[in-house]
Amino acid sequence: MATITGPIDVSALRARLDRASAAAERAGVDALLISPGSDLRYLIGAGGDSFERLTCLALPVGGTPTLVVPKLEQPGYAGIPTDELGVEVVTWVDGEDPYALVKAALKGDRTAVADMMPALHTIKLGQAIGGAQSLAGPIIRELRMRKDAAEIDALRKAGAAIDRVHARMGEFLRVGRTEREVAKDIAEAIVEEGHTVADFVIVGSGPNGASPHHRDSDRVVQAGEVVVIDIGGPVAEGYNSDSTRTYVMGEPTYDDVRDTYAVLQAAQQAAVEAVKPGVTCEEIDAVAREVITDAGFGEYFVHRTGHGIGLDVHEEPYIVSGNSLPLEAGMAFSVEPGIYLPGRWGARIEDIVVATPDGVESFNNRPHDLVVL
Ligand code: ZN
Ligand code: ZN
Ligand code: ZN
Repeated sequence: MATITGPIDVSALRARLDRASAAAERAGVDALLISPGSDLRYLIGAGGDSFERLTCLALPVGGTPTLVVPKLEQPGYAGIPTDELGVEVVTWVDGEDPYALVKAALKGDRTAVADMMPALHTIKLGQAIGGAQSLAGPIIRELRMRKDAAEIDALRKAGAAIDRVHARMGEFLRVGRTEREVAKDIAEAIVEEGHTVADFVIVGSGPNGASPHHRDSDRVVQAGEVVVIDIGGPVAEGYNSDSTRTYVMGEPTYDDVRDTYAVLQAAQQAAVEAVKPGVTCEEIDAVAREVITDAGFGEYFVHRTGHGIGLDVHEEPYIVSGNSLPLEAGMAFSVEPGIYLPGRWGARIEDIVVATPDGVESFNNRPHDLVVL
């Protein structure tokens, strides 16, 4: 089902459809072909689901946006005010050729397809339409990475909700429990505190904390261990939270924990404070990396400093070396340096921030200190 969980702002969506089509024209393509997912949700208010039967929003430059959808999936899109949006709906039934229906909605054959469209559909669309195919991601990102006031409000709401979960961590994270038990309780709290679902829960205790994308396991949390908790999910509007705090179960067993953590904390703070319009994404990464490298831990900071966030947990802009994109007001992203000492322990601090006209606002506001439980 094309679940609609948030409010639909018709004029905002209309403006997005217009801007997407203008961006497509600037990019030299004749149409965007958008499959179910966050791009579709961004443009019409419902993300839908992908199946072996084709659902596709064709957005032809200078033409009528057309949603080609299997007849049996159509009820899932019933909440979308397609008339007000100026979107024509074309349904098809088994035995018909949906790819020909997409072609019929187009005015030219140069298409840009959604990055996450299943290859099954991409290839069949290419065969039906002919012409050159390219990726729509680089076109749509120009819209999606500049958040409007309503999107920023939704991210702020998501940030406050995940902060409330971190504030309750002492209820869940206790010595003698397995990571999985802790994660299950956290997932429930994520929903209780205002998310529609717990999208991910990372509980990395002891050496597992040194693996940045560890999820959970049957490992039992021990006294003196450092535990990385990285959690998030979407609120009703579809926008996501993503926040990491690092906890220690009483006095740390290793004697390098406090000094090393202080380096990480300084790096994260310096990177957040560096955020303002005009500073490039790679400069933010460099600020965090320099503090960590200067202290001798450069080789243990094994990932980029951050990622954009919105309807997807990971989206543009990426805060990474080589990305010379200058920040603009409205760009929201994570600042999440980490230090990972293989086989021993790890730590990460992650806030979602947004560049404002004169600086930065953080959506996560729990203390950054190592939290002793
Ligand atoms: Zn990540
Ligand atoms: Zn993140
Ligand atoms: Zn995270």
